[in-house]
Amino acid sequence: MLVRTILALALVGSAFAGGAARAEETGCDYDVRVTDRQGIKVAADVTCVGEVGGFVAHPGVVPYVTRFEDAGGRALTRDESSWLMPDSPKRSSVHYEVDLGAFAASGARGVAAAGRSFMPLAQTWLFRPAPVDLPLRIRIINESDQGVATGFASADGVIRLTARQLAFAGYTAFGTFDRRRIEMAGTDGAPAAIDLVQLDGRTALGPDRIATWVGRAGEAMARYFNGYPAERSLVVILPMPGRDSVPFGRVIPGGGITMMVQVGEQADRTALLNDWVLVHEMVHTAMPFLSDNGSWLMEGLATYVEPIVRARAGWIAPEAVWAEFARGMPRGIEAMTRLGMRRAGFGAIYWGGALFALITDIEMRQRTDGQRGIEDCLRAVRRDGGTGDRRWTTAEFIAACDRAIGGNTMAENAETYYLNGGPVDLDRLWADLGVVQQGERFVTRADAPLARIREAIIWGRPGIPKPAPIPFD
Ligand SMILES: [Zn+2]
Repeated sequence: MLVRTILALALVGSAFAGGAARAEETGCDYDVRVTDRQGIKVAADVTCVGEVGGFVAHPGVVPYVTRFEDAGGRALTRDESSWLMPDSPKRSSVHYEVDLGAFAASGARGVAAAGRSFMPLAQTWLFRPAPVDLPLRIRIINESDQGVATGFASADGVIRLTARQLAFAGYTAFGTFDRRRIEMAGTDGAPAAIDLVQLDGRTALGPDRIATWVGRAGEAMARYFNGYPAERSLVVILPMPGRDSVPFGRVIPGGGITMMVQVGEQADRTALLNDWVLVHEMVHTAMPFLSDNGSWLMEGLATYVEPIVRARAGWIAPEAVWAEFARGMPRGIEAMTRLGMRRAGFGAIYWGGALFALITDIEMRQRTDGQRGIEDCLRAVRRDGGTGDRRWTTAEFIAACDRAIGGNTMAENAETYYLNGGPVDLDRLWADLGVVQQGERFVTRADAPLARIREAIIWGRPGIPKPAPIPFD
């Protein structure tokens, strides 16, 4: 039990371990060989300097770990999904092997497969040393005829991560897949690129048009964020047999941003034009992961910003954004007014958080005579180093945001709506914004008190010309 507790400690507060006394060579060197004799397999030699109590794997892969031994060839004892090093040596070498192909074929948790390719989570093949947060230097030696695509940044063929980053690291693609790079203008003149991987499987539109879709979504994001906000990311398209939409997406940020987007094999142009998942996930890649119960703010901002990005690109009408808000935000009203966002349930973090973002955006624009709003806050957070591969506290995020606007708008609203909830009069809000329901439709009124702010939310600060639509195809 103690060992398990010690291993668990690797995730918290271990930044002090080692401290200033850390020697140059402290850390673990990984040589990871990928082979494909009878399916894709991984064999890793790991040499560590620094006390290591064991190695932690994703629970789902445990049955597919075919070897785990020390330098003397002795098998290590396993405790659930950890392999233990007796006496926590200061120097250690281990060797492990994983039958990744069999793991992928099993359909176990931690991996998704499509045709001759699959995408496992990092912890199913890169096992993390514990308990300390050691620096890791990882070399991947691909001896197979298959592709390997990771979201990790590497220099001179070496991926540098910490054990803590590895604990939150995302997807890698293995096997036969379509791979291409989409280059874009990043923020503040820097270049940005999406490494797009389409796993093996049929999509009605085919890889070229799927790639165009991802690139166009990137352009739409760049318009809102003043450049594509993720300097580098791996986007993996997972074809979904029998589906005709974009059912699901997910971003995992540790050590490099990776995104998974499921695309139905029958999804047509209309399905992609109507899709919100891809842009929603891209918004996640634009901001740091808020590690301290900040899901309500991350999901709220993604839910709020996504339709605005698509409207500013010219793909949906502004009225459709307001209709979506007017229909969705009541789902967050109880959390925002009675419970506090800290007690919000699964659905309410999205729409309660989006309502929080709308109220805050309006107040920021009122406070700055329409000159600054949520988009300026998000751009500033990114400039302050709050990129998609970072973990910040919610308070750090809010402070950076408010600094960009001037004042304490977001902090004050967070204080009110996070703890216990506060007053929100939705009917009044829509009336002030000039969002009016007429039967099944929503229309907007030019003479409403907040009409100017409503326009600024969609199009940016007053006075700048409305941009031309971004072509979708
Ligand atoms: Zn989300």
